[in-house]
Amino acid sequence: MRKGQRKLHISKGVLYKLYIEDNLSLAELSKIYLVSPQTMSTYIKMCDIPIKKAVPRNQNGSNNNNWKGNKAGYAAFHYRVEKIRGKPEYCEHCKTTDKTKKYNWANILGKLHDVNDYKRLCKKCHNEFDGILDNRDSMGRFIKKECKQTRWILATL
Ligand SMILES: [Zn+2]
Repeated sequence: MRKGQRKLHISKGVLYKLYIEDNLSLAELSKIYLVSPQTMSTYIKMCDIPIKKAVPRNQNGSNNNNWKGNKAGYAAFHYRVEKIRGKPEYCEHCKTTDKTKKYNWANILGKLHDVNDYKRLCKKCHNEFDGILDNRDSMGRFIKKECKQTRWILATL
């Protein structure tokens, strides 16, 4: 086995959703699962999923483009966190354990690869958190993201 190659644990269904429905590229998937694009492509073929032709993404401003890429990638990272750390069943922010509520893994510091950089949040707190991340100007640039995000994180500690 070459350096950097790892055995992949992704179900065919998840892979299909990410690769076909969410339209992530081989490169993006390989980054998320920390394998080489070759390994990822072999795995996709093994799952009988057709390999897409590499299509250059529409480059309308790098900020915008990154944002879209991250949005799609974000979902993929969440699958991975859930796989490793399990389904969240309470909120680490407001401490609710109400079983009728929905809980999500929310990335905190932007280290999407790091499964430890996620907190369990209820929908309400997650929306509040994403609202902060979504704080962008008319050009799509983040406004004082770090500052606000840091304050929010401090409030959750
Ligand atoms: Zn909460």
